[in-house]
Amino acid sequence: MHEFSIAYDIFKTAQQVALDHHAIQVKKVCVDIGEMSMVNPEQVQYLFDMLIEDDPVMKHAVLESRVVAPETRCSCGYSGDEKFVCPGCGALPELVRGMEIVVAHIEIEVDE
Ligand SMILES: [Zn+2]
Repeated sequence: MHEFSIAYDIFKTAQQVALDHHAIQVKKVCVDIGEMSMVNPEQVQYLFDMLIEDDPVMKHAVLESRVVAPETRCSCGYSGDEKFVCPGCGALPELVRGMEIVVAHIEIEVDE
């Protein structure tokens, strides 16, 4: 249940932001999902929708996920998106981006 802990983390993060800012409603949560994280965005979406159902502040939130393409770097100076074989020297490049799941942006509504 990898996806569940991810959906739960996103939910908790958004909930904390809402709390910190005295939000009356969370409208949108944007998440960057690294392509190499092997996470299924649809599954995260489904679980997130389930988690927010009973939360009055969160229940109308829309989860927007964006898949982030991997980015690699090699000690020979190569950088690009080759994941397994460096086109410069044939070594295994280092993954610098594409593994992470990051809450990039949260939109909230505040009572004025
Ligand atoms: Zn290389």
